Amino acid sequence: MQSQFIKPLNRPNEEYKILQFLGKGGFGMCLKVENQAGEVFALKAIEKNSGQNYDEVINEIKIQNKLKHPYIVNLYDVFDDLDFVYLKMELCSNKSLLEMVQNRGELTESEVRLYMLQLIDAVGYMHDNNIMHRDLKPDNIFLSDNLDLRVGDFGLSKELNSEDERQRTHCGTLPYMAPEILNPKVGYRFEADVWEIGVIMYILLFGCQPFGGHTRSMVIDRILNADFEFPSDIEVSHDAKNLISILSMRLTLSEIQRHFFFRGPTPVELPLSALRTAPNFE
Ligand code: ADP
Repeated sequence: MQSQFIKPLNRPNEEYKILQFLGKGGFGMCLKVENQAGEVFALKAIEKNSGQNYDEVINEIKIQNKLKHPYIVNLYDVFDDLDFVYLKMELCSNKSLLEMVQNRGELTESEVRLYMLQLIDAVGYMHDNNIMHRDLKPDNIFLSDNLDLRVGDFGLSKELNSEDERQRTHCGTLPYMAPEILNPKVGYRFEADVWEIGVIMYILLFGCQPFGGHTRSMVIDRILNADFEFPSDIEVSHDAKNLISILSMRLTLSEIQRHFFFRGPTPVELPLSALRTAPNFE
């Protein structure tokens, strides 16, 4: 991409100035751009003759287009020029939960409560619309200007059509995968997303993976046996540990919201300093 400007085909009045390269992904790259009115966006650029399987891109566009929710990355538009197809999305200026946990080590329980409630809200809305995300992980949960969550990257998501349709495709990111995804005989449905929410909650509280291991088969073994422990050097409440433990039994999202853990203090929003240091909510 040589030009500093992107000019969509057949839209003579639209032009986007490239401000920054945000990152490279499985489908292409992501750019921070500005329109003529000075509004900024994230543009996901997918090269037209890259050999990319367009079915996956079209699936991502269709699903993200359907989902309009405060905690889901908003897809505003799709357009192209001669070389690329572009997904014009809400810019999440504070990166993702992955960077936040990497910077901080672990988050406080109050922060985890806030983020779990936002995540459950977003995932509940997806499931009500028959969409399974299938790749929930801190890297795909972006942070808005005021550090609210935005679930993104619907590249692996899937619309389930009938009540009993079960998925058998082995997909997602191994340490987050539910046991039933690893066992194609069983097949899986929406509960697999709930398992991933449990893994995310563990990572936010302890700063490490619940199902770590030196080899792929060790990780698979631990997932299939729901074999995880709580690190003893990080003080975490009994309620939080209890919720993580029962998440592996796949509660419904409304059962999760009623858990004792959510009776603790929950901030309305986080200060920007929370990206680097634990906020003091006193
Ligand atoms: P992947 O295939 O890894 O999901 P993406 O193409 O979705 O890759 O994104 C590549 C990188 O661009 C991400 O790792 C992230 O850092 C950044 N990114 C993606 N979407 C946004 C967004 N809406 N706002 C800000 N940054 C984003």
